[in-house]
Amino acid sequence: MTDSALSRALARIAPSRTTAMTDRAMALRAEGRDIISLSVGEPDFATPAHVVQAAKDALDAGDTKYTAVAGSARLRAAAALHFERDLGIVVPPAQVIVSAGGKQAIFHALLATLDPGDAVLIPSPWWVSYPEIVRFAGAKVVDLPTRADGGFRINAAQLEAAITPATRWLLLNSPGNPTGATYPAEELRALGEVLRRHPRVLVMSDDIYAPLRYGAGAHATLAVECPDLADRVLTVSGVSKSHAMTGFRIGVAAGPLWLINAMARLQSHSSGNPASISQAAAVAAFEGPQDFLLAWRERFRARRDLCVAAINAIPGLSTPVPDGAFYCMVDAAPLMARFGGESPNADEALCLHLLEHGVAVVAASAFGGRDGFRISFAADEATLEEALRRIAGAVV
Ligand code: PLP
Repeated sequence: MTDSALSRALARIAPSRTTAMTDRAMALRAEGRDIISLSVGEPDFATPAHVVQAAKDALDAGDTKYTAVAGSARLRAAAALHFERDLGIVVPPAQVIVSAGGKQAIFHALLATLDPGDAVLIPSPWWVSYPEIVRFAGAKVVDLPTRADGGFRINAAQLEAAITPATRWLLLNSPGNPTGATYPAEELRALGEVLRRHPRVLVMSDDIYAPLRYGAGAHATLAVECPDLADRVLTVSGVSKSHAMTGFRIGVAAGPLWLINAMARLQSHSSGNPASISQAAAVAAFEGPQDFLLAWRERFRARRDLCVAAINAIPGLSTPVPDGAFYCMVDAAPLMARFGGESPNADEALCLHLLEHGVAVVAASAFGGRDGFRISFAADEATLEEALRRIAGAVV
């Protein structure tokens, strides 16, 4: 089969470059090479024991059949509890959908609402899947570039200038992957002012990293800061990052009933319900103890500080201090002349060079950025120290 056998929709999208780098690192390891992978976006901690036990109990209890498409009543209620307790969003369970990972919730929301000719505003550097899903839906990606010295956040004027009659969605991700960008309440309210003037624009607030915030004060989210916009805000969350449950494939989203029902309609024909065992585990995650999160966050904070200090001590590399999530966006612009200079994908050559020196990271261009790379600091301190030593050795 050749590419001509592919649908036009599939031909518009590329495979995930984060997954591609992780696969490459695994293949080199299988050949016996010593590779440290800082390319993958998942916590290295073990899934909490009470969550694993709930999955075993569900199996033993024969909880192995179809559930309602949008998730079991028990999990939708537990997720509603999570939205209220952890994000301040008060929703009935009917306005919550459970999908196979946050990724599927985002996929279904966009596929259910976008038509060819629609435009979607995405602040860059962005999470790799956003633009690909938008293109798959036949809509147009509108890049809202952000800068390290602006905290990798868009502002109200930038948003206003970008909105046209074609604009259908704004995708916000706070704390953000790959930058750690985190929007304070007053900046969300300023964005809300703009959005009020454009009633056709829907907003995705991807808060999947909300439990991993390092700043003071509560997490701020658009549905809470601008409650009058709640009928067009979809908030995405889950257990993948917060509870180290990436393999369970459970994500949740809360939003207006029409949108949740539209997503469920699509889900009823794509995957049907998410795995029943994983749903039982997610109930335990949302209803069970949350105190371990504090300890995890402090571990991540220490790793973040270690990475930021080490990167900024390497000539030619720099990174701001990320406010959330577990990634550092590293600027390598001063080194780019050695790796293909002006080409927007020159950072790929830099990443291949780092791979030769035993560290897998993902090029900034994979995230709509350039001249740098993303490090995931979801690895233990000794591994991070060795990886950073290798990076320093590779670029001197
Ligand atoms: N949103 C962001 C910003 C992410 O980084 C990820 C995972 O990498 C997801 C959503 C989806 O997470 P999952 O589908 O594993 O729940």
